[in-house]
Amino acid sequence: MMRETRSGGCLCGAVRYEVAWPPLGVSACHCTHCQKQSGSAFSIIARVPREALEVTGILTDFYDTGESGSPVIRRFCAKCGSPLISEIQQEPLDSFFFIKTGTLDDTSSVVPTSHWWTSRAQDWFKFPDGAVIMDRQ
Ligand SMILES: [Zn+2]
Ligand SMILES: [Zn+2]
Repeated sequence: MMRETRSGGCLCGAVRYEVAWPPLGVSACHCTHCQKQSGSAFSIIARVPREALEVTGILTDFYDTGESGSPVIRRFCAKCGSPLISEIQQEPLDSFFFIKTGTLDDTSSVVPTSHWWTSRAQDWFKFPDGAVIMDRQ
């Protein structure tokens, strides 16, 4: 049976990936670190099992400590700066990769169903009806 996959990559094309689709979940993270790293109001991230992702090209790692205190590796393209993948180094989240969904070639039907760190959300943002709201992660 053919497994469905989606492809993606950074802005300059030096880093490309293939990932089994659909993901286990899609979330918007409003934490201040995601705001800084994305240069935006939040990150939209898809949670996938680590074995579901195959990357070609060279990623550069930034070792961060998330607002929760967990070690987070933020992986980006050194050439164009696009953030692609985060790894949370704390159980039970350490068996997943979190893909920044703006890097997918096809973003259709990628809708965040949960919102993390809403206590840090920018004032103008209105949470959609029915979304799971998490004050922290
Ligand atoms: Zn790039
Ligand atoms: Zn975040």
